Amino acid sequence: MTEPEPALSVVVPMFNEESVLPLLVARLRAVLDDLGEAYEVVAVDDGSTDGTTTGLHTLRAVWPELRVLRLRRNSGHQAALVAGLLRARGRYVVSIDADLQDPPEVIAAMLRLARADQLDIVYGVRADRSRDTVFKRWTAAGYYRLMRRLVGKQVPAQAGDFRLLSRAAVEALRELPERQPVLRLVVPWLGFPSGEVAYQRQDRAAGRTKYPLSRMAGLAAESVTSFSAAPLRVATWLGLGGVAVCGVLVVVAVLAWCNGATVTGWPSLYVAILFLGAVQLLCLGLLGEYVARIYTAVQGRPAYFVASDSVARAGSEPVEL
Ligand code: UDP
Ligand code: MG
Repeated sequence: MTEPEPALSVVVPMFNEESVLPLLVARLRAVLDDLGEAYEVVAVDDGSTDGTTTGLHTLRAVWPELRVLRLRRNSGHQAALVAGLLRARGRYVVSIDADLQDPPEVIAAMLRLARADQLDIVYGVRADRSRDTVFKRWTAAGYYRLMRRLVGKQVPAQAGDFRLLSRAAVEALRELPERQPVLRLVVPWLGFPSGEVAYQRQDRAAGRTKYPLSRMAGLAAESVTSFSAAPLRVATWLGLGGVAVCGVLVVVAVLAWCNGATVTGWPSLYVAILFLGAVQLLCLGLLGEYVARIYTAVQGRPAYFVASDSVARAGSEPVEL
């Protein structure tokens, strides 16, 4: 690395964000130029198929601090974030969404807090969720409650992927063997001193969400299976419970037989068969979740491919990796 490391890197994953790009640049650049320190913006183009790619390259001519990391295909928000974080060069690295739901102005406050209190991690925490739908609020509350139980109290509630990491924290992330860590769980788990900055989450400035319900459910399932083997034990408990219920039923049947009351039997038989079938399927499904995780881990495929990485200087050719 020949260039001196900047004080701050800002990582922005983008997937088809052409409509929001000009708005983002206007606000983000104003904030960062005002800091009066060397910085770089790592725009991770997550395989966009709209005008984002050309938009970013045009911008580089007028914004020398902009660096464009292009992924070969759409790899998802988390993978794009990891790609950007691990390549960022700043002493502090902030990750922020492109859609201006996280106000760029908060970055300055994060940096101040990290320096004043010598913190390695500063979370952006949502002050309130009144703008979200009831459904999103409920599912998010349930998600964070579960995660605090699984990972520990250090997981801040209502903190998404808007956060600041020190160089030390980024290096710790790099050492993890996981190809695709769930950042919002792994980061608190690292155990660095951390702080919070509250902010008001805004509405998406333009374009539409890339996080449909199926992706949210996927993230939740991955969060659980990446941090806990408890669901596997559910199978054992269900099995034990099933055995206990069957034991009781046998006693009841024997007593009924002793009293001369013959059991006609079909309903109970049905219930038993269905119950056992359901328990077995459930347990198989749970096992499958973990086997799938082992499978992807064993395959060891990278979560993303970097197609090109422009250096932070206008006019220079992208470096092919
Ligand atoms: N994003 C990405 N790759 C994807 C999906 C999303 O890089 O496959 C980016 C997106 O451009 C945005 C951020 O991740 O900057 C958050 O996505 P979005 O705003 O759509 O999610 P929401 O805020 O609705 O949960
Ligand atoms: Mg968004």
